[in-house]
Amino acid sequence: MTDPAVLVVGAGPAGLTAAFELASRGIGPVLVVDREAEAGGVPRHCEHNGFGLQDLHRSMSGPAYARRLARRAERAGVRVRLRTTATALGDDGSISLAGPDGIESMHPGAVLLATGARERPRSARLVPGDRPAGVFTTGQLQQWVAGGLPVGSRAVVVGAEHVAYSAVLTLRHAGVATVAMVTDLPRHQTVSAFAWFARRGLRVPLRASSRVIGLRGHGRLESVEVEDLVTGAVECIDADTVVFTGDWIPDNDLARRAGLSMEQSTRGPLTDGWGRTSRPGVLAAGALVHPGETAGLAALTGRTAGRRLAGQWSSSGPGRGAGPVTGLSVITVAPLCSVVPAVVDPRDAPARLLLRSKVFSDRRLVVASQGGRELGRHRLRHSTPHRSLSVPGSLIARADPAGGTVELSLA
Ligand SMILES: Cc1cc2nc3c(=O)[nH]c(=O)nc-3n(C[C@H](O)[C@H](O)[C@H](O)COP(=O)(O)OP(=O)(O)OC[C@H]3O[C@@H](n4cnc5c(N)ncnc54)[C@H](O)[C@@H]3O)c2cc1C
Repeated sequence: MTDPAVLVVGAGPAGLTAAFELASRGIGPVLVVDREAEAGGVPRHCEHNGFGLQDLHRSMSGPAYARRLARRAERAGVRVRLRTTATALGDDGSISLAGPDGIESMHPGAVLLATGARERPRSARLVPGDRPAGVFTTGQLQQWVAGGLPVGSRAVVVGAEHVAYSAVLTLRHAGVATVAMVTDLPRHQTVSAFAWFARRGLRVPLRASSRVIGLRGHGRLESVEVEDLVTGAVECIDADTVVFTGDWIPDNDLARRAGLSMEQSTRGPLTDGWGRTSRPGVLAAGALVHPGETAGLAALTGRTAGRRLAGQWSSSGPGRGAGPVTGLSVITVAPLCSVVPAVVDPRDAPARLLLRSKVFSDRRLVVASQGGRELGRHRLRHSTPHRSLSVPGSLIARADPAGGTVELSLA
C-alpha cells in the first residue's frame, strides 16, 4: 500500500470516528491499524446497553455500537488493517508496523493515536498476599465471560465508580454473586440509580472508606482482606473471585517512547482543544487522552480531531496545520487533579474542559484565573471523584494569549 494521508492507530470508537470524519471529507487514503483481530475497541466486549448516547444519540449494546462504527468507516472508504501493531513512531513522522505480513515502515501525512486506556491490574496496585487464580480487571472479566469461561461463585469488586457497577452486572450475568464492593472513598462515585439497584435490588453491600490489603489462597483465591480506614479493623471476606475496577492508565507506550510531551496527571499525551500533540503531524484522541470517560466522549474527541485536521488540510493543503500543540497551559489546584485539554488557545477554546477531582468536595464553584485576575466562574452539578466535571471552554475565553498559565480552582 502507498503511504496513507493519515494513519490512525487503534480501531476503537475514537480511531474509527476520526477516520470516518477524514474519509467522508475527502481526505485519503486513511488507514486504521489495530492489534486485535476485530475492529471496535473495548465496546466489543461490553454486552450491556448504553453505548452511542453522546455521539449517535441512541443506546446500543457495546458489540452493536462497535460494528456500526467499523461499518460506517469502511463505507466511507477507510481501510482497516487488523492484527497489526504500531511498534514505533519515528522523529521523522515514520511509523513501524508489525503484522501477519511482517514488519513495515510507513510515512503518512499525519498520525492519529487512539490507543485507548486500561485498568491497572492487581500487580500495579501493589496489593500484597498470595498469587491465586480468580483475580481480574473488569476488562479481563468481560472477555472471560464473553468467551464462555467459568468465573467463580463469590466475588469482591474493588471500586465503586461506573465501571465497578458494570462489573457487578457482568458477574451476575455469569452466575457469580458479588458479596462486597470496596472503595477507599466515603461513598460510591456512580449515579444514584446504579448504586441503589446494586444495594437494594442485588443486595450488594458497599464497604466505603475501606481498602483491600491482601489476597489469600493457594491455587484459587479463598479470601480477601479488607481494612476499614476509619476504625482500622480488618475483615477476611470469603471469595473465590476479585475484580479490580477503574484506576485507568492510558495505553501510552507508543506516545511515551516517541518522546511526546505527556500530561502528568492523566498520563496521556499533552493535547490542545483539537488533539494536536507536542509533535507536528501527530494527533491523539479518545481514552488515551481522557482515560475513564465514556465511549461516546472518546468518539467525540475523535470527531473533533478528524474534522479539524480535514478542515485545515482542505484550506492549507495536506500535511499542514497538524501541530504542534499551541496555546496557554491550563492547570488545576487541589482538590481538582486534572484538566483535558491542558493546553488551550483562548481565541479557539474547545466547547468544554473536563476536570477531575480527587475527593468529594462541598465547593462547587470552578474559578478560572490568570496571574491573579479572575476570568470566569462556573457552578458544577457535582464534584464526585472518578467522574468528569465539565465546564464550558468559554470560561477561559477572556484569558490573555500572552498572559501565562491559567489556573482552575474550586471556591
Ligand atoms: C469494562 C469497561 C466497561 C465500559 N462500559 C462502558 C459503558 O457502558 N458505556 C460507555 O460509554 N463506555 C464504557 N466504557 C468506556 C469505553 O469502552 C471507552 O471509553 C472507549 O472504548 C474508549 O475508546 P477508544 O477508541 O479511545 O479506545 P479503545 O476502545 O480502548 O480502543 C483502542 C484500540 O487501540 C488498539 N491499540 C492499542 N495500542 C495499539 C497499537 N500499538 N497498535 C495497534 N493497535 C493498538 C487496541 O487494540 C484497541 O482496539 C467501558 C470500559 C471498560 C473497560
